[in-house]
Amino acid sequence: MDNVSLKQIAQKFAGSKRLNDFIEYGGVAAAIETIDGNIYTGVSIDTACSMGFCAEHSAVAEMLKHGESQIKSLVAVDEEGNAVPPCGRCRELISQLSKENLKATIEVKNGIIVTLAEILPYDWKEDPGRAW
Ligand SMILES: [Zn+2]
Repeated sequence: MDNVSLKQIAQKFAGSKRLNDFIEYGGVAAAIETIDGNIYTGVSIDTACSMGFCAEHSAVAEMLKHGESQIKSLVAVDEEGNAVPPCGRCRELISQLSKENLKATIEVKNGIIVTLAEILPYDWKEDPGRAW
């Protein structure tokens, strides 16, 4: 699947919705294409007291639920459909799922596609004493 199509899938779920005085969700939506060609999506959840999580995090949970962990490509979009880069926590989360995910392509800004390795330099997991 090309990145434009993946982005369109993510965009279907983007649009902030206010649940109550404490929670809004969907301000960011993400779509993951796995190496097996399946698509998983997620939305962000923003809460009082910082208990929410990112759209990428949510899409990763959906992927794991289906027994997959290797990502071919990933994109997250804001409400206007613009690509947004994953935060540091999500970069780390995705990298810990599989070393192969360092080759995953990520649209970090509209039309700018890089690998996870490029946006996660000096990886602490390169320590030879660790199993990955
Ligand atoms: Zn994140």
